[in-house]
Amino acid sequence: MFSRDRIEYKTPDEVRKMRASGLALAEILAEVKGAVVAGATTADLDAVARAAMLRLRVTPNFLNYHGFPGVLCTSVNDEVVHGIPGARELAPGDVVKVDGGCILDGWHSDSAFTVVIPGGNAARQAAHEKLSELTRLSMWHGIAAVHGHGRLNDIGCAIEDFIVSQVGDKYGIVDGLVGHGIGRSLHQPPEVVNFRTRQSGPKLKAGLVIAIEPMVIDGSPETVTLEDEWTIVSTDGGFASHWEHTVAVTPDGVWVLTEPDGGEAELAKLGVPVSAL
Ligand code: MG
Ligand code: MG
Repeated sequence: MFSRDRIEYKTPDEVRKMRASGLALAEILAEVKGAVVAGATTADLDAVARAAMLRLRVTPNFLNYHGFPGVLCTSVNDEVVHGIPGARELAPGDVVKVDGGCILDGWHSDSAFTVVIPGGNAARQAAHEKLSELTRLSMWHGIAAVHGHGRLNDIGCAIEDFIVSQVGDKYGIVDGLVGHGIGRSLHQPPEVVNFRTRQSGPKLKAGLVIAIEPMVIDGSPETVTLEDEWTIVSTDGGFASHWEHTVAVTPDGVWVLTEPDGGEAELAKLGVPVSAL
């Protein structure tokens, strides 16, 4: 499960550069979030991100990645991740996942959020908001688990334990897609799985920077890739949520590079301090 490929540990100065990239991405994604409304197309969201990236003088890292045509991945309802922005018009009740990334000064960042557009069927709306909120909180439990400087799979254990504690096995945690190391490139070792594994993985040492990104389906965790060779959907049609932050292991704990407050507010709720550099 845990490859022995070399991990790129960052110096404190490099982590601070990644923080600048993360803050730019947070600003970009906040603008996109404001544009996730009924009647907008997923291409409109991509256009908002492109304009913000130009203004902030950062480079998109998804665009042309293995030929990907957008600067964002936009995935709706049963689409889990890697949806291509296009003419699809968002509707009340849609569950919209936006995943974006950028490069500043050579350093990559990667973050994602879910929005449930208001105005859908009330019962379904509540169920989808619960799915999104529990997925978001599972991400924060995973991030909080970094603070202890334990082992990499502490993150997956925390995510799985939280989801199971809330809904038993009603939700499926996607296991074919994982978080990852990040730095001078978008995807690096190690893989960051969202569930408990037999091996505990490498130690969480200062300088490790990873994207923590649980993907959770209200249904079976099975997924399949569509004919566009990008969009990954749930096999049983269950709706999905995806949340992601780029997170640094620091000498005294953890720092969330793609959250404006470094993760302070959310981690405080879990009794964990933020250790910014
Ligand atoms: Mg991402
Ligand atoms: Mg990622």
